[in-house]
Parts: sequence; C-alpha cells; structure tokens
Amino acid sequence: MAADDTEFPILCETCLGENPYVRMTKESHGKECKICNRAFTIFRWLPGRGMRYKKTEICTTCAKLKNVCQTCILDLEHGLPVQVRDSALSIQDNVPRDEANRRDYLARAAGELETAGEQVDFSGRAQPAGREMLKRMARTEPYYKRNRAHICSFFVKGICTRGNECPYRHEMPRGDPELAKQNIVDRYHGNNDPVARRMLKRSADSAKKSSLASAPEDKSITSLFVMGMDASVTQSGLSEFFAPYGELKSIVVPPKGNCAFINYRNRSAAEAAAAAALDDGCVVGGKALRVVWGRARPKGPQSELQRPATAANGIPLPPGAAEDSAQYPSQDPTAMGAVRR
Ligand SMILES: [Zn+2]
Ligand SMILES: [Zn+2]
Ligand SMILES: [Zn+2]
Repeated sequence: MAADDTEFPILCETCLGENPYVRMTKESHGKECKICNRAFTIFRWLPGRGMRYKKTEICTTCAKLKNVCQTCILDLEHGLPVQVRDSALSIQDNVPRDEANRRDYLARAAGELETAGEQVDFSGRAQPAGREMLKRMARTEPYYKRNRAHICSFFVKGICTRGNECPYRHEMPRGDPELAKQNIVDRYHGNNDPVARRMLKRSADSAKKSSLASAPEDKSITSLFVMGMDASVTQSGLSEFFAPYGELKSIVVPPKGNCAFINYRNRSAAEAAAAAALDDGCVVGGKALRVVWGRARPKGPQSELQRPATAANGIPLPPGAAEDSAQYPSQDPTAMGAVRR
C-alpha cells in the first residue's frame, strides 16, 4: 500500500522558501518514508537562490499525525521540535515504534484522517502555562537561512579547488555539534532530541531565574516554595539551609513530601534566602531543589485548609505537589509540561 498520493506536500514556510510559486518535481512512490517505511510521493524543489535543494522526508500521513513539516519535522504551528511542543502540551507519543504495530496504527490513522479530512488537533489541549511557554519559544518568522547550501567539507579541510563554482558553502562551521547527533526518527517521536533538550533546559533556567528574581510586590508574602524534593531531603536539612537567613516561622512539608513551604517571620529574611538560592542554587541532602516565591493566601476561613499555599503567580506547581487542591488552571500541576511526561 502506498503511504500517500498527494498533490502538494505539507511543508512549513521555511522549507517552502520565499517564493510561493516555487516549482516542484514530483515522484510518485519515490522512496520510503523515514518513519513508516512505506513508499510515498517525494517532492523536490529549490527554496530560493543560493539555497540547497530540499525534498520531503516523511509521508503526509506521518506528518499529519504529528502536525509536522514533511521535510524538517518541526511542528507546523510553532516551528519547534516535537519534543519541545509535546513537553509543553503534555502530549504523549502514541505512534508505535515497532514496525508491525506502527503499520496497523498508521493504516488506521490514515483512514481516520481521510474521513475526518483534517489533521490531528495539537493546539486545543494545551494548559495555559504550556501555551505560554510555546508562545515564548515559537519561531514566528520563517528562517530561510536554514535552507542554505551545506558547508563544503573540502573547504573546511582547506582543499576545495572549486572556488566560486563550488555549490557548497565556503565558511567554517560555527555551530552546533549537537545538530549532527539528531536523528529523524527520534525527532519525530519527540524523545532523545539533543536540540529539544537544550531548548527545554534553557527555557526552564530562565523561568527559574525570573521566578526567584522578581520578589512579589505584596510585602506580606514571606514564604518560599521548594520543589523537587525526595526522601533524601529532610525537614532538618531544609532548616539548616534556610535558617541562616532569618527567623523561620515554620517549615511545612505536605504529605506527599516532594515540596515544602518555608515560612519566615519577616520579608527581609525571605528575600535574603531567595537571593542565596538564586546565586548558588539550593542543594539540600545532595539534591538540587527549585525555589520560587510563595503566594498570598486566599482570604476566607476555610480556604486556608484547602489550599495551604501555592507557588508564585504563573509558576505552576510541580507534578504531585498539590494535585488534590488544584482549582485554577494556574495551579494545575500538569501545566508544567516541561517535566510532566
Ligand atoms: Zn510515513
Ligand atoms: Zn520544514
Ligand atoms: Zn567547496
């Protein structure tokens, strides 16, 4: 069975190039899709002057299932690696990796896509925090540089004799050894993608910095919220780290034990502790913990029981931190797509 027989490929703006009327050559059942191994229609085109020829690498069914470009395998809506998008939106990879199951899955999916006449919806399910994160990281303009000719390997070794005639780029690689380690199957399934991993880490780092650096305006807030604990982090370990910055009112560890509320008597102590955790990190019992500002308790006699405290505004609680008490989208632990899998 052929994977598809399409008139036009599914491509991102970048891969298509600047000229929307670009001429494409089409080769029916030209090659096997790199994901499902079925023969599919390959398109080839030149995305602009001085660029390299591009071609489709995966079939339209596989592309629709992940809402990715058939050539660069990046998400069509955000221009991001599948792993980044799926982390932010808490999407599980459900395309089987082993060949027999995958064939069944794709055959079924192809039928469904045909009757539905559209692609799988990847945007509606996002939690607010995940959506925010995607918006922050998304590439909104096409990035045509990505279509440039590859670097000339002879030039790099200083032995290219073709000069201006050389179809490859004559410059030294500046970049990214990580990119060479990417592989199309991992990128499609959204795991083990070194580039995605680095993007997620950078995003988490900057979120961490800004959440601690900006102390809440409400000066009555004198609490910090600690996440990422396990059994090696004890209450006395916490107090050893936090007591030097000022008098502690209490340290509260909710039953699940993977987070803690550090409550100071006064604001300046909390600020000093926040600054220390920001500068040198917070390591207790050998574990690097994430620290954010606490938030004002909601008014009302019973709400205090229901919601002991939450992380600073916009910073979602970690998985399991307050699952039972989540009431608003911003408190939803699943919103932290970056760590939820
Ligand atoms: Zn395919
Ligand atoms: Zn593309
Ligand atoms: Zn050359």
